[in-house]
Amino acid sequence: MGDFWREPMIIGGKTVITEDMTQICNPARVIEQIGEVPVGTEKHVSDAVEAAARAWPAWIRASVTERAGYLESTARYIEDHLAFLARMLVLENGKLLSEAVAEMEGSIGVLRYYAGLQKELSTDVIRADGRGTMVLTRQAAGVVSVIVPWNAPVQLGFLMIAPGLLAGNCIVAKPSTYAPLTLTHILLHLAQQLPKGVLNVVQGSGSTVGSALITHPKVRKISFTGSTEVGRTIGRQAARTLKNISMELGGNDAAIVLRDADINNRLFQELVKGVFGSAGQICYAVKRIYVHQEIYDTFLDGFIAACAEIRVGSGLNPTASMCPLNNKNQFRQVTELIEQTESAGAVVRAVGAWADDTNPLAGYFMLPRVVHGIDQQHPLVQDEQFGPVIPVLPFETEEEAVALANDTEFGLGNSIWTRDVEHGFELAKRLQSGSVFLNVHRVGASAADMPFGGFKQSGIGRGHSVEGLHEHTELQAIIHRIDM
Ligand code: NAP
Ligand code: MG
Repeated sequence: MGDFWREPMIIGGKTVITEDMTQICNPARVIEQIGEVPVGTEKHVSDAVEAAARAWPAWIRASVTERAGYLESTARYIEDHLAFLARMLVLENGKLLSEAVAEMEGSIGVLRYYAGLQKELSTDVIRADGRGTMVLTRQAAGVVSVIVPWNAPVQLGFLMIAPGLLAGNCIVAKPSTYAPLTLTHILLHLAQQLPKGVLNVVQGSGSTVGSALITHPKVRKISFTGSTEVGRTIGRQAARTLKNISMELGGNDAAIVLRDADINNRLFQELVKGVFGSAGQICYAVKRIYVHQEIYDTFLDGFIAACAEIRVGSGLNPTASMCPLNNKNQFRQVTELIEQTESAGAVVRAVGAWADDTNPLAGYFMLPRVVHGIDQQHPLVQDEQFGPVIPVLPFETEEEAVALANDTEFGLGNSIWTRDVEHGFELAKRLQSGSVFLNVHRVGASAADMPFGGFKQSGIGRGHSVEGLHEHTELQAIIHRIDM
C-alpha cells in the first residue's frame, strides 16, 4: 500500500468528513489514488461562514502580535515537516520535488514576511492641522472567502490566508479539488491552534462550494487566485451583494528579447526555466517570446538546442527536469491547442525526451513544444496556454515589440532582455502589466515584498507586499474637527 491521505473539512473547529469522498490521483501515475477529501455542500459553506462570523468579534480584539504568532508557528510547522509536505505536494500536483521544496520554502517566507508586518496594522497614521486631527486606521473586513487554484496551492493559499488572518479577518478557505491535500494538512494544524471558527476549510467543487462562498451574504470579501474565466463568473455573482474582491488571474506573459540582449547559455537556461517550469502551469510563466528579427534565427537555434536537454518524467524521478500536467482537463486542452496550431500551418517542434523509467502513457506527460511561423492572432499567442508549448515570434522595432506584447487581454507580467538595463527600466513603463522583469522571468523572481497582480483581465488589486495586507483591510478615517 502506497501513500494515502484523507484530509477533512474544518468547520467551527471540528473536522468533518462526508460519506462520498473525492479521490485524488497522482498525475504521474493516474491509476494511483493518493488521497481523498470530502464532498462539501452549500450547507457546509453556510455552517462555516456562520462559525467564522461568530468567531470574528473576539478575533478582532486579539492583538496583532498574537495573530502574527500563529503565522510564525505555521512557518515553523512547515519547516519541521518540509520533506514530508513537499513529497505530498508532488504526489497530488505533479510538480518536481525541487519545485515542491521551493514552494514550501516560499510559503515559509510568506508567513514570516506577514508576521513581520505587525507594525503596519498597529500604527495609525495621524494628520493634524488647523482643522483638527484625522486618524487613519485599518480595520478587518470580516468573513473572507479564500479560493485557491491547484498549481501552487500552498504558497498561493498562504499569500491570501496570511494577510487575511493578520488583518483580523475570519476565513473560509476552499482548496482546489485537483490539489487539496497538502494545503489542508497544514491548515488543519493551524486551525487546531487558532480559536474555533477563525479558520475554516470547505472542500468541494467550484460550482457548488465555490459559488456558495461567493454569494453568502455574511461574506464581506473574496480573495481569489485562479483563471480569468472563473474570475469573470465570480465578479458577476459577487455583484449581487457588492462584495470587495481581490483577484489574481491568468497571464500571457511576453519575453521581449531586444537586439542587444546577451544571447548566451545563461539567457537560454533562464528562458527554459521561465517557460517550462512546472510544465508551463504557472500564472507568470513566459507564454510568448518575441525576438528582434536580426537575431531571431540564432536565438531559435540556441533555444531549441537548450530545450533538447529537457527530460520529462515524474516529479519524484531525479533525472526529470519537467513534470507532467496536473489533470486530464488541462492535458486535453493543451493537446487540442497543439493540434489547432499544427493545422493552422505553424511549425510545431517537439523537443526534449522522456526521463529514464518514464512510461508516458501512465500519467499526464507531454513533451515540450517550440512553435514558430505562427501569427499574432492565433489562440496560442492570444490566450493563456498553461502548458509546455511556446510560440516564438520576430519583431522589427521596439515600438512593434511593445505593441505586440500589449496586444492581449492579459497583463500579469512581462520581461525585457537587454544589456542596457537603464533602457530596460524605461521601456518597461510602456508595458501594460503588473510586473516587468529585466533579464530574468521565472518563479523566484518575484518576492513576498514585491506587489504582484495584473493589469486588464489579469486581476483586480495587488497581492504580496504591504498592498496584499491592505487588500484585506478596510481603511477607516476618524476625524475630530476643532474649526467648527
Ligand atoms: P480555476 O479553474 O479558475 O480554479 C481556481 C479555483 O476556483 C478552484 O478552487 C476552483 O474549484 C474554483 N472555482 C471554479 N469555479 C468556480 C466558481 N464558479 N465560483 C467559485 N470558485 C470556483 O483555476 P485553476 O485551473 O485552478 O488554476 C489555473 C489558473 O489560475 C490559470 O489561469 C493561472 O494563470 C491562474 N493563476 C493565477 C495566479 C496569479 O497570481 N495571478 C497564480 C496562480 C494561478 P475547483 O477547480 O476545485 O472546482
Ligand atoms: Mg499564450
